[in-house]
Amino acid sequence: MVKHSSRIELKQSAYKNNVNFIRKKIGEHPILSAVVKANAYGHGIEAFVPMAEKCGVKHFSVASAFEAEEVLAVCKPDTEIMIMGIIYKEDIAWAVEHNISFFVYNYDRLDAACQAAKEVGKAAKVHIEVETGANRTGMQASEFPKAITFLKKHKEFVEFEGLCTHYAGAESITNYLRIQDQIKLIDVYSKQFEAAGLVPKYKHTACSAALISYPETQMDMVRVGILLYGYWPSKETFIFHQRNTKKGLERAKDPLKRVIRWASKVMSTKDVPMGEFIGYGTSYQAAKNMRIATVPVGYAYGFARSLSNQGRVIIRGKRVAVIGTINMNLLVVDITEIKGVEKGDEVVLIGREGKVQITVASFGELSNQLNYELLSRLPFDIPRIVNS
Ligand SMILES: *Cc1c(COP(=O)(O)O)cnc(C)c1O
Repeated sequence: MVKHSSRIELKQSAYKNNVNFIRKKIGEHPILSAVVKANAYGHGIEAFVPMAEKCGVKHFSVASAFEAEEVLAVCKPDTEIMIMGIIYKEDIAWAVEHNISFFVYNYDRLDAACQAAKEVGKAAKVHIEVETGANRTGMQASEFPKAITFLKKHKEFVEFEGLCTHYAGAESITNYLRIQDQIKLIDVYSKQFEAAGLVPKYKHTACSAALISYPETQMDMVRVGILLYGYWPSKETFIFHQRNTKKGLERAKDPLKRVIRWASKVMSTKDVPMGEFIGYGTSYQAAKNMRIATVPVGYAYGFARSLSNQGRVIIRGKRVAVIGTINMNLLVVDITEIKGVEKGDEVVLIGREGKVQITVASFGELSNQLNYELLSRLPFDIPRIVNS
């Protein structure tokens, strides 16, 4: 098979480390649902899901039925899948058939779930997502009485598997009061359902930031994305964790390990005399006689154009600068100071080589993109390789 111009390596031991870290934070009780939306935050569902299963994960959350289908294609038969976002009415029967649970945020969806369940001959597993203040999706309180009546009446076909909500920015202290209001409301609402005799199997609200900064949000299940991939949702969340950790080394150390490493190879090298412009246009002019290397990765392959003249990569254990504009399929780096770089040398775009590391965070800060965005934009077709 013809090779892609870069490869993404996933490190199983790093993921296991992160799973263990979360488990220590949440204790025995809550289900750990690994959030694998957006192609497992760019890590690649196909390679990632079986690897996560080997680390003990038995529950995955996705944003759409389409992503659920991708997980289903590679997961073990008894693994649970939950759709937190979009599922079209015509796909509900498919979800029921495959035991895939889904969020319900509109009353009319209950009826559709019930119809589909009858068609398939098996109960639909629904998670009622309630509006607590994020003002995105979420069932309005005014619809609860109807929903409660419906759920009681159609128990046989609609299983009340979850009651849930999502916080509006638990990673930032700016949102502290808003999150507090949401935490109070989910309690009021769950009591309202319970008073009517409806107890969900799982009550769940926490994402990565919430489970760290608001441990009371952990409840029966946590939906964890970014932490499991080895990144903090924000600096604040890391600081909050540190304040709750013993002083000294343990406090200073980052307990998370990055799972991803993204690498390519030098395509060609050449000398450029002082005064010449490099690449398209005039954004970079050689201020000295230089030696450059080209790397066959550009913005079409997930290396943001905003990293033009800004990004860094690692070659031969040294950090080198991206010069000129990032092209669609190519970037140029300055190797003047590194001896002996040759065509075929490894180029690390994200990750570690020896003692030097390019973190997504530093890459992300440079380009004003969050870890979340940068990772999730890594293209689907770059091959993923799992290492122990
Ligand atoms: C993405 C998402 C999560 C996980 O968020 P992280 O910050 O990556 O842990 C949890 N719940 C919902 C509803 C989400 O959309």
